Amino acid sequence: MAGWPTFPPAAPALKRKRANGGLKQVPGRGCIALRMAFAFHILGTSSSGNCSLLEAGGARVMLDAGFQGPRLEASLQKLGLEARALDAVFITHEHADHCVGLPALLRQNPRLKVFANRETARRIKDSLKSQPDWQLFETGTTFEFKGLQITAIPIPHDAADPVGFAFDLPPEDARPAKRLTWLTDLGHVTPVVRHHVALADILVLEANYDDEMLDLSKRPASLKQRIRGNFGHLSNLQTRDLLLGLREWQATELCLGHLSKECNRTVIVDALMNEVRAQKADLRVTVVDPLEDNPVSLW
Ligand SMILES: [Zn+2]
Ligand SMILES: [Zn+2]
Repeated sequence: MAGWPTFPPAAPALKRKRANGGLKQVPGRGCIALRMAFAFHILGTSSSGNCSLLEAGGARVMLDAGFQGPRLEASLQKLGLEARALDAVFITHEHADHCVGLPALLRQNPRLKVFANRETARRIKDSLKSQPDWQLFETGTTFEFKGLQITAIPIPHDAADPVGFAFDLPPEDARPAKRLTWLTDLGHVTPVVRHHVALADILVLEANYDDEMLDLSKRPASLKQRIRGNFGHLSNLQTRDLLLGLREWQATELCLGHLSKECNRTVIVDALMNEVRAQKADLRVTVVDPLEDNPVSLW
């Protein structure tokens, strides 16, 4: 893939309008720039599809596009948006529940910038009829897009080069949070993952399966082994233990996601989080129902 682009210079802030029509004016250098207020919507997160939307500063970006085209379109419509209103999509890894909607998204918005690392892009590109405006990043680095600082966090998972993302918000949008971090599809907890969990203000973290439900499920033994493996997914207990084991962490908003439809229930995750709530009184906890079809808006 020689000759693929790396990062262009940051584009100037554009005039954009929120789905709800809300516009915020901030002083610009010799011109008036219109900025969007901060908003974060989880269109869905589960083993059958992951897709979120972040609006901050001058950017409206999608995080993973793991819904089939019609579901993706319907979810955006619920927010009063169309695909062509997006500036970019950030892809965590090449599994279908994170990127199956990319062709549909690009049909509707061919100018969409697609952020991925080289190995992830390599595995996705053959499924696309024409190549999008790839924005290749290096895992482990921090880069800038329209005022957002984005860190690509290496995660242990059975994909080519999977990542989580931390989005540092522009100062004007940093109320009530400075950093939003997305970490799903984790086979185990690494020191890097623990570090980024501790630094998040808004944290989306995987709680994939209940051990007993996975045991009792009709899934083949090899799949159970893959899910439980070091490069599979975090169980509810692993996620709880990660949070209880932190000496200090600053999140005020915790969202548990990527639940398995077959092998987990929101009530189980929510009950386990009572131990975490007991240690952190200021924490608001949301468990995203894998059966929920409406966006969950954290702001
Ligand atoms: Zn995956
Ligand atoms: Zn996944």
